[in-house]
Amino acid sequence: MKYGKLKGPYNQKTVKERIKALFFDNIGKTVTREQIIQVATDPVSGRQPENWHQRLSELRTDDGYTILSWRNRGDLKVQEYLMPNKQKRAGASKRTKPTTEAWRAVLERSNYTCEWSEAGEVCGLHEGEIDPVGGGRVKLTPDHKLPHSIDPNSDPRDPTKWLALCGRHQVMKKNYWDSSSGKLNVYAIVQAASRKDKLAIFQFLLDHFGYIQKEDGSIGRRK
Ligand SMILES: [Zn+2]
Repeated sequence: MKYGKLKGPYNQKTVKERIKALFFDNIGKTVTREQIIQVATDPVSGRQPENWHQRLSELRTDDGYTILSWRNRGDLKVQEYLMPNKQKRAGASKRTKPTTEAWRAVLERSNYTCEWSEAGEVCGLHEGEIDPVGGGRVKLTPDHKLPHSIDPNSDPRDPTKWLALCGRHQVMKKNYWDSSSGKLNVYAIVQAASRKDKLAIFQFLLDHFGYIQKEDGSIGRRK
């Protein structure tokens, strides 16, 4: 495994530009979380950005760059990333957004809170408050409910087609749905599942592959 180096200088204006420059300096090499944080840190103020992983996610989803992680490549460890080439996926930059009026209507409907809902529980984090789970200040951004059925004429004007989501839930949604393959990212879903759900999945897999868990907790082949 070849590790990347900080070449720099990384004095680009935005966090995203600096992270992109780091990957461009290290095509085909492993870049670590620490290196990303190092270049993401503001070169003038020395301030460490709270949401560097969101910017990383935007390089993938909005700009269309391929950035691999342990989720898609077995030889990468957690907190290691790799850009195999500088190619952008076509069309990735054409992200539809709601109109200013529609977005304002979404924010008013949501009361300026995140509308992500899971098992009937709404996230509800308010714009500007500190996210107790992910850290950092909540910044709500628009999420199109059905990204594969955008009607360019009506959807941007229709508030019912959009949700207000906090950064953590934007990332979560992007991780769950691999828009390049059109498949659910099952691994990410299991990873983010509750302990109760993970246990149920664990039991299912044991049974599926012919194992049983004994009373003492040990696991053995089903006879
Ligand atoms: Zn949320």
